[in-house]
Amino acid sequence: MDIINILPDSVANQIAAGEVVDRPASAVKELLENALDAGATSIQLIVKDAGRTLIQVIDNGCGMSENDAILCFERHATSKIHKANDLFAIRTMGFRGEALASIAAVAQVELKTRLHDDELGTQIIIEGSEIKEKTQCSCCSGTSISVKNLFYNIPARRNFLKKDSIELSHIEEIFKRVALSNFNVAFTFHHNGRLLYDLKASNFAQRIAGIFGANYNQRLYKIEEDTEPVKIFGYVGKAEYAKRIRGEQYLFVNGRYIKHLGLSAAVEKAYNELIPEHTYPAYFVLINVDPSRLDVNIHPTKTEVRFIDEQVIFAILRAATKKALGQYVLATELDFNPSTEIDFSPAPKNHIPEAPKITYNPSYNPFHSAPSTSTSASTAHSRSIEIESFPEPEPIESVPVNSHQELNYLGHYIITTLKSGIAIIDQQRAHERILYERLLSRRESGITTAQQLLFPINCRFNSSDSELLTELIPDLKQVGIIVSSLGQNNFVVTAAPSDFKESEMQQILEQTINDYKNNMLQKFSDRDKSICLSLARQMAVDADTILKPEEMQSLIADLFSCQAPNISPSGKRTMIILSEQDLAERFK
Ligand code: ADP
Ligand code: MG
Repeated sequence: MDIINILPDSVANQIAAGEVVDRPASAVKELLENALDAGATSIQLIVKDAGRTLIQVIDNGCGMSENDAILCFERHATSKIHKANDLFAIRTMGFRGEALASIAAVAQVELKTRLHDDELGTQIIIEGSEIKEKTQCSCCSGTSISVKNLFYNIPARRNFLKKDSIELSHIEEIFKRVALSNFNVAFTFHHNGRLLYDLKASNFAQRIAGIFGANYNQRLYKIEEDTEPVKIFGYVGKAEYAKRIRGEQYLFVNGRYIKHLGLSAAVEKAYNELIPEHTYPAYFVLINVDPSRLDVNIHPTKTEVRFIDEQVIFAILRAATKKALGQYVLATELDFNPSTEIDFSPAPKNHIPEAPKITYNPSYNPFHSAPSTSTSASTAHSRSIEIESFPEPEPIESVPVNSHQELNYLGHYIITTLKSGIAIIDQQRAHERILYERLLSRRESGITTAQQLLFPINCRFNSSDSELLTELIPDLKQVGIIVSSLGQNNFVVTAAPSDFKESEMQQILEQTINDYKNNMLQKFSDRDKSICLSLARQMAVDADTILKPEEMQSLIADLFSCQAPNISPSGKRTMIILSEQDLAERFK
């Protein structure tokens, strides 16, 4: 008995469509890229309900003839490749002729298009790959495609979509990538009737500022390198703005957004000592190479790419980044900190220089924790930062600490003796625990120890972050951060707990939103806790900070007065205690 069937076209199309269009954002990407390929200089993106009900792209590009308007929905219909060889010189975004066929298979699509020189345009309505209507119409020159009710005929996929804020943030990410690399094209983006972005044709720096906020201009250095195998142009973030997550990292090769571990590493390595471990700089880099030196045999909807001159390109990119960082770091130091300039004026004749004096305190014992008056202790700890948030250590009965507590560092760890043994403490995790419980208890007690700021701080975020921040306003209030929306993605912070650095407010909020976003994706259930966790992690001292003995002391006292001193809020060990028994075991 024969058992093989040929799948009907409608089914085959739906299956193939799944590869190209898996969520609203991927349809947005295809439509924007088609508009760019059509030579548009102005593109409007209109979205309703995070793309569920409507995705519309209107462009002023070349438009299509009546025949092409019908053909464009056929699979493998493309105007971009005529012969196999064209593949190796591809400069357009799409070339497989699959996008519109796929979209039309899973949505209700309305196309209006007109060639510049034609008087009338064509309107086509197509649903589930079936043309329902074809009429002549009067419309603007260029193309407008409306994709309605995406996945209307595949309930499983429709149900699989995430909540609107998440789908919208995917769309927004696609929009940013496309708008960044096509800064000479004007874009608008409306969601549910609200104008989220209004970007005029501009240069790259202005485009970055238009998308991420005007304050980005001060956060970035320019990088530029014009060599034979590769041309590099763009902006890399100043080290002090590095973040704990890989957020704003954009690489474009020949105008296409790509992800490339090697290239990212090349940029990040240039920062090697400048930023703490596990923090990541922002970068926006446009790379141009001869298309024939690129491997195009990679799925166009993917973001990977392979270079023939890979090693050379890495080296050049890394050097260019280093140059930008090195040069400018020096320049700003000289500009803003003239006191660090060294006086090289010649000494007067017969001047006998005095031998430098060294003062030291012979009674200083680094293993004793009593605050030392000698300067030698504090200069040795010159890397320590002010930890204003530490209250005076209160005598807490339950603290199992010896009265003659000895404190010392072994690498990054604080070593101390307790009544019950030796404790080895990870100060960063310990501090996270302390701050976390403090924030939680603030919230639970309802006592918001918010302090009115003398000067309110203005912050600005991108649209999806602004939406999330608006959701978080009541939660932030509970931990003492009072934020109000000023509209148009602008916010003002009027109060914050005293242990916040005001200068870092924007960054703190950005990171909190990002953590919240990630937690949401991972279905972190308790959102209040997730905010306290995020804030605690940002405010905690890092492992490299060398605390003064009295700071170590109060850290340990605070840790032992926590409800769960043994684990950090993210579930990692804060300390190891070796009891006498443990030691006896080891000496066996
Ligand atoms: P591809 O972009 O890979 O060629 P698509 O399915 O995305 O495949 O588009 C098919 C064809 O339809 C394109 O090659 C192009 O000729 C035409 N087309 C699509 N969108 C537009 C547009 N916005 N303006 C003009 N022509 C378009
Ligand atoms: Mg295309």
